[in-house]
Amino acid sequence: MRKNIASIGLRSLTVLIIIGIALMSGDALAGPPWRIHSMDRPEAPVVDPGDAGRPPSDAIVLFDGTDLAQWERGDGEAPRWKVENGHMETGGGGIRTKRAFGDCQLHVEWAAPARVRGRGQGRGNSGVLLMDRYEVQILDSYQNRTYADGHAAAIYGQYPPLVNASRPPGEWQSYDIIFHGPRFTGDGTLVRPARFTVLHNGVLVQDNAEPTGTTSWMRRPPYRAHPERAPISLQDHGNPIRFRNIWIRELSERDPREDPRMLPTGRHAVALTPQMLDQIVGRYSGEEEFTVVITCEDGKMFANVEDQPKREIFALSETEFSPADVGLRIEFRKNDEGIVDGLVCSLGTEETPLKKVR
Ligand code: MG
Repeated sequence: MRKNIASIGLRSLTVLIIIGIALMSGDALAGPPWRIHSMDRPEAPVVDPGDAGRPPSDAIVLFDGTDLAQWERGDGEAPRWKVENGHMETGGGGIRTKRAFGDCQLHVEWAAPARVRGRGQGRGNSGVLLMDRYEVQILDSYQNRTYADGHAAAIYGQYPPLVNASRPPGEWQSYDIIFHGPRFTGDGTLVRPARFTVLHNGVLVQDNAEPTGTTSWMRRPPYRAHPERAPISLQDHGNPIRFRNIWIRELSERDPREDPRMLPTGRHAVALTPQMLDQIVGRYSGEEEFTVVITCEDGKMFANVEDQPKREIFALSETEFSPADVGLRIEFRKNDEGIVDGLVCSLGTEETPLKKVR
């Protein structure tokens, strides 16, 4: 005889009432999403941040004050910039990294000449160009009148800095640039513009600014498709600008499974074949003689203990499901013929197997 629902162990009842799955179309997802405060979620890698003025342990050092081994001219020849006293100085044309970079965190220290010459854009002009195209302006902007979108830390010709955090000429200044390159489809259509966040001497001056395309003088050219990695270049604008302590950390896209919005929105959920859908919909019973019912309505999946309220559940893979807000997993099991004949509910280390009854 079937047990009364009240006689089921409280924990098992909780497990089964909260079963829930959503069925959405979208990108296939292999692996688990992480629940709030899950101890199974991998912790961030450890990085030694280094002492002040030193690169963090996972950085690629592009210039440590000794040589220009990481750099070349635009024509591939050796740079002519002089290196002395732990810094390099512009001269003989711009330089670029030999390596190509995409999304990154870039640290650059620079100094304009202590002795002021020229004015406006002619005073301490240089630049850091991400992907050889998108310029963060370098300028001696200390008490120097010029157009707003050409000041130090401007995304040149597009975004003035939020504030002018310049130090006096001759003093070392820093840029910390977080850059995400644009993305293009295979046919060259822009999917997502580039993004800049910049700190000038530790002060936020660009907050997720999205360039409209390549930076340029007197023009704002639209995006043109280019590879996801390209060299970083330093501009030689004819003014003697010094650089030191340049390092970069390459950034990778977050694993989509890290997105805490994933399950409630279903944005990354899984498309099931009609055949698989037919197989998993049904009734499942276990030793405790209660029944779990899996249903599908309007493209959404639900589960409930029979006679109890339904709960929406989300597909993590073709056979794994979970409600949006609880660390419960339901895995459908197949028999030797590849037909679904049961499921296992898991919550922590507790597993509850159920057999398909119809
Ligand atoms: Mg410039």
